[in-house]
This record gives sequence, C-alpha cells and structure tokens, in this order.
Amino acid sequence: LSERLQSTIQKIKGKGKINEQDVKEMMREVRFALIEADVNLKVVKQFVKIVSERAVGQDVMKSLTPGQQVIKIVQDELTNLMGGEQSVVKFSQKPPTVIMMVGLQGAGKTTTTGKLANLLRKKYNKNPLLVAADVYRPAAVKQLETLGKQLSIPVFQKGTDVSPVEIAREAIAHAREEHLDVVIIDTAGRLHIDETLMQELKDIRALKEPDEVFLVVDAMTGQDAVNVAESFDDAVGITGVVLTKLDGDTRGGAALSIRTVTQKPIKFIGMGEKLDALEPFHPERMASRILGMGDVLSLIEKAQLNVDEEKAKELEEKFKTQTFTFDDFLEQMSQVKKMGPLEDILKMIPGVNKMKGLDNINFDDKQIDHIEAIIRSMTIAEKTNPEIINAGRKKRIAKGSGCSVQEVNRLLKQFEDMKKMMKQMTGMSTKSKKKMKIP
Ligand code: GDP
Ligand code: MG
Repeated sequence: LSERLQSTIQKIKGKGKINEQDVKEMMREVRFALIEADVNLKVVKQFVKIVSERAVGQDVMKSLTPGQQVIKIVQDELTNLMGGEQSVVKFSQKPPTVIMMVGLQGAGKTTTTGKLANLLRKKYNKNPLLVAADVYRPAAVKQLETLGKQLSIPVFQKGTDVSPVEIAREAIAHAREEHLDVVIIDTAGRLHIDETLMQELKDIRALKEPDEVFLVVDAMTGQDAVNVAESFDDAVGITGVVLTKLDGDTRGGAALSIRTVTQKPIKFIGMGEKLDALEPFHPERMASRILGMGDVLSLIEKAQLNVDEEKAKELEEKFKTQTFTFDDFLEQMSQVKKMGPLEDILKMIPGVNKMKGLDNINFDDKQIDHIEAIIRSMTIAEKTNPEIINAGRKKRIAKGSGCSVQEVNRLLKQFEDMKKMMKQMTGMSTKSKKKMKIP
C-alpha cells in the first residue's frame, strides 16, 4: 500500500501544476497509508481534512513544486500532531521526583521501569529507586528485583502482603532518607481495564502528587491503544506516554492516535528487550515511519538541491530532438554524482532498502569515474557522432582513459541503448502516456 503512496507521489512530483483533484487523489493514498499503520479512523479523517485544507491553499498551488509541497505538508502536520513539548521528564524541585508507571498487563511497565531508571542515571545523573507495587503476582516483584540487580539500582519491595498504596508511601519516605532523587513506581496491570485497578492507581496517586504518570502502551496494540489511553487518562490522569515494542514491524500508528486523542506527549519509545533500549521520542522520525516513506523526503530535498531544473529541461529537449551527445551524458552523470554515493541514494528509496539481493549488486562509484574518464578521452567529433568510433579510435580512447577496450565498448553500447530507449519513450504520444494509469 505504501507503494501506492509512492507512485502517487511520483506522479505528482513531476507536475508543474496540481489541482484539487490531484490533492484529493494523494490524500486518498495518505489515508490508506495511515489506516494501514493502524491509526484510529477518526484521527485519520481529521488529519486528512487539515492537510487537504492547507494543500489546496494558495501557496501550494502557486509554488514551483506543488507535489513536493503537499508531501511536505503531510510530513509537517504529522510531526506537529505528535510533537509538542520535548522535555523528557519533569523533575521535582523538591526531590524525590515521583514517576508512576501505569498500563495494561504485558505492555512493558516493569521492563520500562528498569530502562527508565537506567537512562535517568546515565543521562541526568540521577539516583533512582525502583518500587515494586505490583503485588498480585509474586513473579512481578522478582522480575523487578532482577532488573535492579542487573543495573545495580536499589529496589524497594514489601513482598505481596502489603497494599500497593502502603508500599508506595514507605518507598517515598525511604527515598527521602536515602537521598535517592527519583522514585519510579511499577504498578500492576490487568488484561483489561477494570475499576479495581483504576481505584488502586488513584489511591497511589493521591499519596503525593506524582511528577509524572507514564502510560506504557504496547505499540502493537494498534487501534485499541486509543481506548486504553483514554480510559487511563480519564480515570487516573496521565502526563505522558511510553510506546513499547517499536522494534517490531508495527508501523506505530498508535503514536499518532494516542497523541491526538489524549493530547498527552509521547515521551519515550521502547526499541527492544535490553535495558538500554529506551529512546526519547522523535516525532519527525515517527511521521516517516507511519507513512512508510523511508527517507523519501530527504531524498527529494537532496535531489531538489542538486539537480538544476533548467539543465534537466535542456536534457529532456535533447532527448526529444535526438541531439543527446556524450557531453550531455557526462553532464547528467555529474548531476547524479552530486547527490552523493549512489549506494546511499538507493538506500533512501523505500522498498529498495528491503530488496533482496541488493547486497550482491556493486554500486561502484569507481565505475562512474571510469565512464567519465572514457568520455573525456573522446574528441569533440567522437562525442557528437559516436558512430565514427572505429577500432583504432577505441584503442586510443582506452589508452587515454586508462581503461580497457572492453569498457569502452560497454559504454558505447550503453549509450546506444539509452538513446534507443529515449527514442521510444519520447515517441509516445502524450495521450498514450496519460492512459498508463498506475493500478
Ligand atoms: P508489564 O506486564 O507491563 O510489566 O510488562 P513487562 O515489562 O513484563 O514486559 C512484557 C514483555 O514485553 C517482556 O517479555 C518484555 O521483555 C517485553 N518488552 C517490553 N518492552 C519491550 C520493547 O520495547 N521491545 C520488545 N521487543 N519487547 C519488550
Ligand atoms: Mg510488570
């Protein structure tokens, strides 16, 4: 499906002008991409509406590259929607800072508690205390203790006989005495949202107003994540979201939905089971991921920056009139070269980076250098009329460029093939081109 988005982008990219119909068509694809990424339908509709309004606006229609402009708006709006304050954790003026971890069972609360403590210690020089307030499963207390041992971070626990509220109270007092400046409370989850769970969380919350209440959500939950986020926010009140398991192949549409519905920022993302696999959330990266666009935008920007539009038009004209020479060929190659190593460029194209066998193909920039050398060794007459290049001339060119006669032959053949192909392409009437609709 994201391939469809790609072809729409391709189609629109080259257009000098776009109209409302083009925007509509593109938005349809964006809509599909979002739905496929598991973004909540209400959110999708709202989003498409905002973008369409902006895209149909005057500025875009008048701009030189309207297609790219539309893509940029999509990207920008997605980033905006998921962005907001980028402060990672709000620390208390009066330590300890209290952070509550809430969420459904299996979302990754306990793991994230450990990861977060690790990150706060490393990046912010904090001395955290982990609190085992999930008393319903003995294994849960043990799990946190194990994490604490691995990290050499203290864990406060009272087994499973004391109420979570009492544990939390004692833990905060303990942290004060021991001068531990961050308390991270790992709470119990349920498989489904229920009253008892919510009441317990509210009671812990009432102890001392926590500085942060982080809702931990499994990114694979997709659509359901919105309901989960809404319920927790209504009942307990959350200050931020941690999206876990984004190392899987989920597109991460939950990020957009949760953010739009709850208006609460996504603070971190979990990228694996290891204790250092927690990263601050980057809205612009998530936007690309949701759209499945790879680095298409940076690619477009790069191309735009480096390829002189005038020159491109000139070349096209030469193809049409069959006056394309080796000099033009060289010019075109240097344009491509300016974009950076061929391999990097190819990697930025979505789909290509996943293509099997790509590793076997040799994108050798040296080859480009050879081609350049060969062309530079030709005389003006040879460059304009390659058919005069006989065996003797080939030898001379090979010698002059430090390449083999075979390489010279290969290039001559490539050039002829290319000319033939161009002839066929430009020979097509505009009508038949229009008929070639991408399915
Ligand atoms: P809790 O019930 O909410 O406390 O969830 P746990 O912390 O026990 O995590 C449940 C499972 O998810 C465990 O097997 C974790 O290793 C795994 N997990 C947590 N976060 C991530 C993550 O970011 N990536 C991956 N791949 N697995 C994770
Ligand atoms: Mg747990």
